[in-house]
Amino acid sequence: MSFEYSEKVKDHFRNPRNVGTIKDADATGRVGNPVCGDMMEIQLKVEDNVIKDIKFKTFGCASAIATSSMVTEIAKGKTLEEALEITRQDVADELDGLPPIKMHCSNLAADALHAAINDYMEKQEKGIAKLEENEYEVAVIGGGAAGLAAATISSYVGLKTVVFDGGQWGGMLNKFCPDKLIENYPGLTDKMTTRELTQSLLDDAREQEAKLVNEHVNDVEMEIDSDFKTLTTDSGIYKARMLVLASGSSPARSGIPGEEKFAVDDGGIFYLTADPSRLIDKRVLVYGRGYNALSTAGCLGGIAGSITLVTDEASFMVPEREMDRVKCIEGLKMLTSTTLLEIQGAAKVEKAVLEDQTGGERMEIIVDAVVLATGMVPNVGLMEKLGVEVDESGFVKTDKYQRTSLDGVYAIGNVASEIDLLVVAEAQGTIVAHDAYRRLRGG
Ligand SMILES: Cc1cc2nc3c(=O)[nH]c(=O)nc-3n(C[C@H](O)[C@H](O)[C@H](O)COP(=O)(O)OP(=O)(O)OC[C@H]3O[C@@H](n4cnc5c(N)ncnc54)[C@H](O)[C@@H]3O)c2cc1C
Repeated sequence: MSFEYSEKVKDHFRNPRNVGTIKDADATGRVGNPVCGDMMEIQLKVEDNVIKDIKFKTFGCASAIATSSMVTEIAKGKTLEEALEITRQDVADELDGLPPIKMHCSNLAADALHAAINDYMEKQEKGIAKLEENEYEVAVIGGGAAGLAAATISSYVGLKTVVFDGGQWGGMLNKFCPDKLIENYPGLTDKMTTRELTQSLLDDAREQEAKLVNEHVNDVEMEIDSDFKTLTTDSGIYKARMLVLASGSSPARSGIPGEEKFAVDDGGIFYLTADPSRLIDKRVLVYGRGYNALSTAGCLGGIAGSITLVTDEASFMVPEREMDRVKCIEGLKMLTSTTLLEIQGAAKVEKAVLEDQTGGERMEIIVDAVVLATGMVPNVGLMEKLGVEVDESGFVKTDKYQRTSLDGVYAIGNVASEIDLLVVAEAQGTIVAHDAYRRLRGG
């Protein structure tokens, strides 16, 4: 009994043919042998029932790699039916034989090929017609926590997915508070900053092969004669069967006198979407309510020269530990039950006029900038013209699967939910991915 490898096996091991992955593959087959630890993945591109392209990725021994390489060579150019007839023995024969022990252990390539062909045929049976390059099963608008989670899990379950962000990946929190430590994310034992969480979400999305497009979606239309939705960006047109709106929310205007004047031309009015580096060493007044205002002030600790945190409510209504964290910021002063009456200045913000609600006393504070955290408005603009239903607060109405009133359109995260938490946004993205899979694949 010979344990020697043939010259052909050695050649295909040293110079494997067709290694890699196919962009927009039509089908994928994966097999593994837990005893030997060999893992194989074969991808196909099929045209007119013929295997036009085939690629493999194999983790394993010399014969696992050689058989993978050989099976791709045999199958390329064959019809699917012909390729289904390729057996393990055929592969071994083409390689001038394999050591007997390897015949059963590592000769899995024909199985991986059959799995890929079966995957293709199943998709055809379920009516998943071949998608063109710009066609997707799922398109996600918004690459914050909600959108990136939806895109990652959607790709993970095998749906061809694209995600767009017109600003900064990671959304609002990553933009304004990149160094904030996330402490309320169960299971994240090594606490991450917002920047690190964003990187990790992006790594996951890339690993699952979701397509990431750093562009703003300018328009969306529902096609009347098909189930596709058309999305337009500056550089192209994309189509998708399922649309996920994860566009977050934008700061609301407060209507406080002076706001309009200084909100333009770098006049000193800022919102949550600002770049905090513009507030370095400035005397900043943060005005708003609840968690958002408190957290905004927290994110400016160590950046602004001084911070005056003002709310017209009696307290911020946040957990004590959040208060403690902000209270210890050097140069921070907190005023509750105080209304911001007016923002004054010549060309730029110079002064804030405040009124103490308890005694009616007025005061003026010298400031260089005012950050307004007085509320958020869901970014529903794109969907409004399509007639998606929103509730009285402006959030997109959804059911328990995050489906909106429009067929095949979902909404997740801050555009659909007043529960303003990363973990909720990501959970909603995950729900959508699984629901879309069920609907598209009939699972
Ligand atoms: C100061 C502050 C601190 C916070 N701290 C915490 C915390 O510690 N823990 C926690 O759990 N939560 C925290 N949150 C809440 C958290 O930020 C939100 O829950 C989360 O950002 C919601 O994610 P999202 O994906 O729905 O929206 P967003 O993060 O707003 O992302 C939406 C994305 O959509 C993009 N977009 C919008 N329209 C389009 C379009 N037409 N085309 C392309 N892209 C588009 C935007 O560019 C944006 O990147 C905090 C919030 C604030 C304001």
